[in-house]
Amino acid sequence: MTADSRKILADVDAYCTELRPIEELCYLEHRYNEATVTLAKKYGLLGIPIPVELGGRGADALTYARALARIGREGTGVRTFFSGQTSIGQYPIWRYGNADQHQRYLPASCRGEKILAFGLTEPDAGSNPLEMTTTYRRSGDKFLLNGVKYLISNGGIADAVVCFAYPEDKTGKDRRISAFIVDTAGDTFEAEDLSAKPGMFSANTGMFQMTSHPVPVENMLGEEGSGFRVAMGTLISGRLSVAAGCLGVIEDCLTESLEYARTRIQHGKPIGKHQLVQEHIAMIEMGRAASDALIERAAIAKDVADKNRGDKSLLAEADTKVAQAKFFASNAAWEAADRAVQIYGGRGWSELYRVGRHLQDVRVCRIYEGTDEIMKLKIASSLLGKDFAAFG
Ligand SMILES: Cc1cc2nc3c(=O)[nH]c(=O)nc-3n(C[C@H](O)[C@H](O)[C@H](O)COP(=O)(O)OP(=O)(O)OC[C@H]3O[C@@H](n4cnc5c(N)ncnc54)[C@H](O)[C@@H]3O)c2cc1C
Repeated sequence: MTADSRKILADVDAYCTELRPIEELCYLEHRYNEATVTLAKKYGLLGIPIPVELGGRGADALTYARALARIGREGTGVRTFFSGQTSIGQYPIWRYGNADQHQRYLPASCRGEKILAFGLTEPDAGSNPLEMTTTYRRSGDKFLLNGVKYLISNGGIADAVVCFAYPEDKTGKDRRISAFIVDTAGDTFEAEDLSAKPGMFSANTGMFQMTSHPVPVENMLGEEGSGFRVAMGTLISGRLSVAAGCLGVIEDCLTESLEYARTRIQHGKPIGKHQLVQEHIAMIEMGRAASDALIERAAIAKDVADKNRGDKSLLAEADTKVAQAKFFASNAAWEAADRAVQIYGGRGWSELYRVGRHLQDVRVCRIYEGTDEIMKLKIASSLLGKDFAAFG
């Protein structure tokens, strides 16, 4: 690990330590934690993998994954903010944007002056984004976007969203999705917080409606019609973030469980001396170790693909390895939180304890950025071959 990577991880650790008591209070009061952003500004963490010349810290994928794992210990909601801002917000602008778009969006978002989000999902288009109904049409030097995006991390607080839409006036093979950087200002963009959720209370999840919302033509991201490629490439980055965050959840569940098992006395001895409690600890640790290994090789594969842009086989390898890490770590984190709650007994089933909060929050990791089922189909078709793809 380089000195730069060590410094980034030390800053992340200091950030997490300072954030923890504030996050706990916000979570218990079910309110958005503004310190997630303000402290991230203080420690320079709003663009960890973005190049230094664009305002970021220039971290490789493995360092960024380790940073997200540390942040994940503070809760899935905190880590999800970083996904929205960086993994699926800044990342597509950096990878698919031009120099002008880089300059207009990346330094400002690294300074925390612009909050970002990624708007792919719609009420009727989740696992299959090709079923989206959002459209765009050209009007002078603008595109006008119409449609609704649903279940968007940071969607209620974003200043700009990477958004996807079909051309209104094209049919057949010409009807291909394009990507846009959409500024959210103006009354043609109406956002709403989605607060009826069973966890991640201190993070923002939103939806928004665009009604002939004007987007400057220079804000099309990538070539016209390349939006699906932009979305799928971005999701590799997003899934690695989910996997790494889940590793952090497992680590925190393990730390909390060890402490509790050593100190809670029942039947005259610490519960950690009861063999069935030890089984829970062993299983959490095995999930942690296996997730860690899968995430490391996925991050390395993603770095190699990022450095060899245009090499489809390296991208496919990164895609599959990240899908494996995402599927495994999110299920291992769900199991770890469940076992940790069991070790805590009645106290565990409470928002007052970290393990109870992890259990509530981490379930969504098996759903967003591609569900368990979609990850399995992706992994199987990577082995069987393209002709066996279950859909698409
Ligand atoms: C808290 C939260 C934050 C989110 N953040 C974002 C975000 O920032 N940006 C964004 O664009 N989206 C975001 N999402 C949306 C998320 O990515 C979708 O919810 C997810 O992709 C699943 O889509 P869906 O909910 O429409 O479920 P559906 O696609 O309707 O799926 C329902 C069920 O059917 C299964 N299914 C569907 N198709 C198949 C198939 N071919 N084979 C087998 N099973 C199948 C699914 O696996 C699932 O079990 C977020 C969601 C949540 C809950």
